[in-house]
Amino acid sequence: MVKELHQNLIKKKISVKELYLSYLEKIKKEDDFYGSFLYVNFENEKEIERAQKMIDEGKADILTGIPIAVKDNILVEGMPTTAASKILENFIAPYDATCIKKLKEKGALIIGKTNLDEFAMGSSTENSAFKKTKNPYDPNRVPGGSSGGSAVAVSKDFVPLSLGSDTGGSIRQPAAFCGVVGFKPTYGLVSRYGLISMASSLDQIGPFAKNVEDAKILFLNIMGPDKNDATTIKEFKFKEINKSKFKIGIPKEYFGEGLDPRIENLIFKRLDEAKNLIEIKEISLPYSKYALECYYIIMSSEVSANLARYDGIRYGPRKEDEDIFKVYSKTRNLFGPEVKRRIFLGTFVLSHGYYEAYYLKALRLRRKIQEDFINAFKDVDFIITPTSPTLPFKFGEKQDPISMYLSDIYTVSINLAGVPALSLNGGFIDNLPVGIQIIGDHFSDLSLFDFAQKLEQIWKF
Ligand code: GLN
Repeated sequence: MVKELHQNLIKKKISVKELYLSYLEKIKKEDDFYGSFLYVNFENEKEIERAQKMIDEGKADILTGIPIAVKDNILVEGMPTTAASKILENFIAPYDATCIKKLKEKGALIIGKTNLDEFAMGSSTENSAFKKTKNPYDPNRVPGGSSGGSAVAVSKDFVPLSLGSDTGGSIRQPAAFCGVVGFKPTYGLVSRYGLISMASSLDQIGPFAKNVEDAKILFLNIMGPDKNDATTIKEFKFKEINKSKFKIGIPKEYFGEGLDPRIENLIFKRLDEAKNLIEIKEISLPYSKYALECYYIIMSSEVSANLARYDGIRYGPRKEDEDIFKVYSKTRNLFGPEVKRRIFLGTFVLSHGYYEAYYLKALRLRRKIQEDFINAFKDVDFIITPTSPTLPFKFGEKQDPISMYLSDIYTVSINLAGVPALSLNGGFIDNLPVGIQIIGDHFSDLSLFDFAQKLEQIWKF
C-alpha cells in the first residue's frame, strides 16, 4: 500500500495535499464514532508544501508525503502530548522524538495523536482519561491496548501507518484485536528519546500497518543509534535467516490451559496450511510461567521511578495549595487508578527490606526468561504463539486488574527478553480478528519481517 501511494505521488496522480486531505476527510467523517484520535493536525500546510517540493525536485523518499498517526505518548513538536492523562492535559511537546525527527526528515506527515491507556498502562485503551476507542470489528468491544488508537487508525484506513509503543505487548495485542500488523523491535534498535517513559528497560517504539511490507518500511525509517538514548545499540549486524524451509518452535507453555480453544485450533490450522514453508518442533520455555509476575514487578518499579517527575512543578497542570507537599499530592491525584496502583506497587517492591525479596528476584528471573529464548533460538529459527489468549473482549468485561493483566500473558516475556516479535492477522472467529505472534532472536528483525511476509502470502486475509 505505501509503495503504491508513493508511486501515485511521484507519478503525480495525486498531490501530497490531496492525499492528506483525503485521509483527513475519513477521520472527520468516522472518527467521532471510533475515537482513535486525541488530536488531529488539520493545519499542516508548511509540511505538506515541503513534502510536495521534495517530490517535485525528485528528492522523494518512500515516506515523503505519507500521513502517519502517532501514539500520544510520543513527542511531536508543537502538538499536544498527553499520554491520555489528566496530569499532562494541555502539555505541548517542546521538541520532536528521535523517531519523529527521522520521519519528518523523510517528508512524512504527522496527521495526529492517537488514544492510549493512560501512560501506556493497560490492554484495552479503557484507561484513557479522555475517551473510549472502539474495536473496528465490533464497537461493543475494546480495540486492545495500550496503543488502541494507533491500531484502530490503521485498521479503519484513517492512515496508512501509525506508531505505537510496546512495553509488554501494547503494539502486538491491539494489532491482534484490530486485525493489523504490529511489530515490537529488538530492544535498543529504535530510540526512546521523546517517548514518555513507562518502564525504560522494556519500552520500544514500533510500527502498525495493514501489511508486513509497510510495517517493515516504517521500522527501517525510525530505527538506528541515537546519541540521545544511551540504550540504543551502536554496532550490530542483523541476523540473517533465509531458508526455503524454516524451523519453527511451538512452545508448549503458550497453548492449552488459559487459551481460548478456538484460537488454538485456528493457529494449528494456519500452521498446517504453511507446512511447505515450515517444519514444526514442540519446544519449552519453562520460565514463561513466571513471566507475568516478573514483568509486573520490574515494570512497576520502573514506572514508580519514571513517574516521579510529574509533580505539578515541571509539567502540565498544577494544583495550588499552601505548601509544596500538598501541591505534589493534589497534583499527583490527577493520575488515574491504574497508574496509581502501579506507582504504589513499584514503590513498595523497591522499598527497604522488600527490594531483595521482590525486585532482585524478579531481575534474576528476567535473566532466566532471556536464557529460555537464547536456548530456543539455538535450535529453531522463529517461535510462533498466539498474541492474545482471548478474542477482543467487551467494554467493562475485565474490571478486576488481574484479569486484565492476564491479557498480556503471551507478550510480556518478549519485552523481558528484549527480542523482536510481530503480530500478524491469522483470520477471524465470529467475525473477530485473531493475532498470531512470530518471535525472533535478537537482531533477526529483518528476517522476521521477510518470514512473516511469506506467511502473509500463504494465509492471504
Ligand atoms: N498491557 C501491558 C501493561 O498494562 C503492556 C503495556 C504496554 O506494553 N505499554 O502493562
